[in-house]
Amino acid sequence: MQLHKDVPVTQSPDLQSQPVTLLRGVGPRAAQRLANLGIETVQDLLFHLPSRYQDRTRVVPMGSLRPGDEAVVEGSVDLAEIKFGRKRMLLVRISDGTGAITLRFFHFNANQQAGFARGVRLRCYGEVRPGTVTLEMVHPEYKRIDEHAIEAVEEHLTPIYPTTEGLHQLSLRPLTEQALERLAQSGDAGLRDWLPPAILKKFKLPSLAAAIRYVHRPPPEASVDELEAGRHPAQQRLVFEELLAHHLSLRQLRYAAKAQLAPVLQGDGKLRARFLDALSFTLTAAQQRVVAEIAADLQREHPMLRLVQGDVGSGKTVVAALAALQAVEAGAQVAIMAPTELLAEQHYRNFHAWMTPLGLEVSWLSGKIKGKARTATLAAIADGTAAVMVGTHALFQEDVQFARLGLVIVDEQHRFGVHQRLALRDKGKQGETRPHQLTMTATPIPRTLAMTLYADLDASIIDELPPGRSPVQTVVIPDNRRPEIVERVRQACAQGRQAYWVCTLIEESEALQCQAAEDTAVQLAEALPDLRVGLVHGRMKSRDKEAVMASFKAGELNLLVATTVIEVGVDVPNASLMIIENAERLGLAQLHQLRGRVGRGAAQSSCVLMYRNPLSEQARARLGVLRDTTDGFEIARRDLELRGPGEVLGTRQTGLLSLRIADLLRDQDLLPSVEQAAETLLESYPESTAPLIRRWLGDASRYGEV
Ligand code: ADP
Ligand code: MG
Repeated sequence: MQLHKDVPVTQSPDLQSQPVTLLRGVGPRAAQRLANLGIETVQDLLFHLPSRYQDRTRVVPMGSLRPGDEAVVEGSVDLAEIKFGRKRMLLVRISDGTGAITLRFFHFNANQQAGFARGVRLRCYGEVRPGTVTLEMVHPEYKRIDEHAIEAVEEHLTPIYPTTEGLHQLSLRPLTEQALERLAQSGDAGLRDWLPPAILKKFKLPSLAAAIRYVHRPPPEASVDELEAGRHPAQQRLVFEELLAHHLSLRQLRYAAKAQLAPVLQGDGKLRARFLDALSFTLTAAQQRVVAEIAADLQREHPMLRLVQGDVGSGKTVVAALAALQAVEAGAQVAIMAPTELLAEQHYRNFHAWMTPLGLEVSWLSGKIKGKARTATLAAIADGTAAVMVGTHALFQEDVQFARLGLVIVDEQHRFGVHQRLALRDKGKQGETRPHQLTMTATPIPRTLAMTLYADLDASIIDELPPGRSPVQTVVIPDNRRPEIVERVRQACAQGRQAYWVCTLIEESEALQCQAAEDTAVQLAEALPDLRVGLVHGRMKSRDKEAVMASFKAGELNLLVATTVIEVGVDVPNASLMIIENAERLGLAQLHQLRGRVGRGAAQSSCVLMYRNPLSEQARARLGVLRDTTDGFEIARRDLELRGPGEVLGTRQTGLLSLRIADLLRDQDLLPSVEQAAETLLESYPESTAPLIRRWLGDASRYGEV
């Protein structure tokens, strides 16, 4: 680490200031390879933890071996012979009085072969496999030992470290050995335990040095299974500390952000009252609660940082509109941003329809708006004529200057990571003040995870759907029953209902996906001559897309064939049937989103998940979850179970928490304690928070300096 380049070597006992080059056997080449693993200091080496273990601490009687074991055995050679099967191989049978095993070698030389004379004693280590006559080891490690000598076994479980090109396991081990020696000599001065005894005691955690030592060199009685599952208290102690460091860093981020100034957006309520009057429905209790939470935030002189979670169809848009109107009443501009063009357009249409009658100017900005139109829009934003701006991230490009941006609303939060959240806040900076920020997501995240991932945000939950909705009925059907499904579409449309047909080829190429949708549209139009079939996909011009959506919404089209571009935001209450092709290839969250496009009106809605055989176990499980529940939180929970947080939340999210040893799913149960420990630390040991964050996040914690 450059930070330490100038520190005189050998001076400080602090292992984080000792470069690995101080260790025996580390020259420039090895140092470079270690650096590839992120190891630059002795401390880094201590935090480079084994991913697996081998038990070479005892010699296992052959009679007790079972296939799958990795074990040390010792015995004498009974027989060595060359077999000619499909390949030439050397078979060596050894026995120890309790049983026998066969060593199988595909590569060997005459010397080796000669070494296996009858009666020679061997000690071998390898994985045990079933064999024809006896159990076998294929290419085990072995050495010849003297018959009467007492050969030592390993004193600890053998750690297997994650390694890299050119750096052998066998050279990593002596390095960690030296690092552990240094740790033993320097004690707390070498590796400070930033968790105070009170916290260790309360959460029953071992000390840092003890945990590190144990994980690198577990005693013979340690359970390999427990260690490899990451469940040993020593590992959990390290996981705890890592999660704590991340949690603290997000909290720090939040405190820093909260200490900033924001415009006080009180508003007189007039626009909001007129808006609510014009709405054809009343807000649900959950919507009212969340609206009130936001209203209170906006009146403070520090920026709101609030995440609204609400299942698909729970009515987040209206909540956003009320927040926007409050800001406008108070004289501020509002920017509303969505991750896709289509969703942004949908919002634009809604906000335009709601707000133009109130005498407000709503403008639209996407990357596709060019030339004069763009210049005019930018001018309206810059001189403040535009009160509300809707768009994609084009809204936050260099050339966009806001007159008095007071509130930023971001839809579908999970697609934006913490860095983007920060960039947005900074973009709207005016003098000393920053805009308030409201983010909305339809991907519900279990509370414990939300606490960690969004510890920099306050959370509101719309946990109620508008009345009069009946849950979507979902069926799972193989695609060889396509004709039946087509017939079902015909019947539904004959009764005046509308339907979506979603083509979900997972081809990387958008072009192929759009082509598939085009083909499907043609086929369906032929099969259903009485129906008006429309098509919408990502490669169409905005204007055409919009025209198709508009005529579907107006009921002029019966069936809309689409790619997953309709995943988010599209809102046509009369559509009550959805067919999803190749549903097995999509994730649960995405299917849930798609399905959320139906079930928005009073009619009983249904969703047909079509799949192609053969179906994998996991895909079957996923589709089963969708069939059994429409509760977004339950679906999110199952999704996490099936796929793990990395995939569920996307690389951006997990990138934000680039965890070294913790696993959000496995270690979820630690999160409440981590939160408690964070409180204690901040209250009573504030000096330890910065070093903890630095230890685990390194320079990544820089983004905390907002
Ligand atoms: P989402 O939370 O998925 O973004 P929307 O804001 O798009 O949901 O709302 C879904 C549909 O429900 C829209 O047609 C919206 O007008 C309607 N809606 C929202 N709130 C209510 C309510 N309180 N009562 C009835 N319908 C509502
Ligand atoms: Mg929405």
